[in-house]
Amino acid sequence: MLPEVTLTDLQRATRDAARRFAREVLRPAALATDRLADPREIVHPESPWSAARRAARQQGYHLAGLPAEVGGLGLDPLSLHILLEEFGWASPGLALSIFSDAFPATAVLLHRPGSRHLLETIVAPFVADTEARLCSCAALSEPGHGSDALWAWKRGDSDARISFATRARRSGDSYLISGEKSAWVSNAPAATHALVWVTVSDTDGRSEGGGIALVPLDLPGVRRGPPTLLLGSRDFPQCSLGFDAVRIPAEYLLVEPARYEAAADQFLNMGGLSVGVAFLGLARAAFEEALRYCRERIQGGVPLVQHQAVQLKLFELFTRVEAARAFSRQAMVACLAPQARVPIEYSTAVKIHCTQAAFDVAHEAVQLHGAAGLAAGTVIEKLFRDARGGLIGDGCNRALALERSRDLIENYPI
Ligand SMILES: Cc1cc2nc3c(=O)[nH]c(=O)nc-3n(C[C@H](O)[C@H](O)[C@H](O)COP(=O)(O)OP(=O)(O)OC[C@H]3O[C@@H](n4cnc5c(N)ncnc54)[C@H](O)[C@@H]3O)c2cc1C
Repeated sequence: MLPEVTLTDLQRATRDAARRFAREVLRPAALATDRLADPREIVHPESPWSAARRAARQQGYHLAGLPAEVGGLGLDPLSLHILLEEFGWASPGLALSIFSDAFPATAVLLHRPGSRHLLETIVAPFVADTEARLCSCAALSEPGHGSDALWAWKRGDSDARISFATRARRSGDSYLISGEKSAWVSNAPAATHALVWVTVSDTDGRSEGGGIALVPLDLPGVRRGPPTLLLGSRDFPQCSLGFDAVRIPAEYLLVEPARYEAAADQFLNMGGLSVGVAFLGLARAAFEEALRYCRERIQGGVPLVQHQAVQLKLFELFTRVEAARAFSRQAMVACLAPQARVPIEYSTAVKIHCTQAAFDVAHEAVQLHGAAGLAAGTVIEKLFRDARGGLIGDGCNRALALERSRDLIENYPI
């Protein structure tokens, strides 16, 4: 790793503490979670997953992205990058599970900052929650809308061909939420709150555009499907969510149609950066596993690292990791700077670049392990399975590139 000459003492301390926490708490919990045969066990209050999330809360990591005015740590963008990479090194799934919990508080601060009620009932309890009782998810995709959910209700077109089947229908001073979200909503099996992407309609059911609603999941009419068991990322557990005329106060529709497109892009922007950096952590972990193994494994009478073909491969993997860090760090610092006006294609490019690097590095690292890289229960085998999901979760990489190529082609300055 390049010497971190630009880090302040505080950033260095943040990195060292996060690295220790990732190694001692998160990595063992992620491995134990991955081995559970029944996905229902993952979210049990006594599970390794729940214990790791509680430990993260007790260290105050849930406050990382919240401003100091509401009791957050107000970390600078570079510190956030450092934290996400270190947690992602332990496991991108667990890292993203922990940081997703801040969705409702962040959304309230962005979209309803003047609501005393929401500050008192959503933001303050989250800040004070050191037991990880509160857990959150983002329910965007639906059984009938995966990639195309990314461009639902975009370009301000009220006749948009693609719209969410989940609806928020106005009813007096509240909205009624009805519909189904896909079986892939991460954190949903344990979530107490969901941000739900909806089509907003008036009292007569006429569509007005897209919206994002905050739904407490203990309300009457909320259903959860059985937990889903994926190939990897089992420490970001999933299930579907259903809503049968769930009544929420009108102010819980945090994003209304007029602001939907900008808000959805902002969410995608943050999601792309976070997922990218968490998977950079996985890429580094896979490279380190490969290097360790190649130093120890003797073939042809010498350690693998003494064979030139292996040296070339290790150097290639090292370069991929360093390039992913340099790009994602620069983009995160630029995108999260106050008053930033960075085109959204940069955060999408970070997501695509880092998840592809993670998959490629994990794939080659398995190859360098030989059969040992395929053995169930090893770190490298889990990293490889987890890496595959990165190319699909938070938007398939090709669909994301398609969505953003229009902005790139229209706006790139030449
Ligand atoms: C690990 C993981 C975590 C997830 N977490 C969440 C979550 O928290 N919340 C949530 O709401 N959802 C979540 N999802 C769902 C995720 O957002 C969707 O899986 C993703 O957007 C793709 O949708 P899909 O699976 O329906 O695939 P589809 O959209 O059906 O795509 C299938 C294939 O067709 C391609 N394709 C689609 N459209 C086009 C096009 N126009 N041109 C060319 N090719 C195209 C895609 O690239 C893909 O290869 C998660 C998924 C995973 C794997």
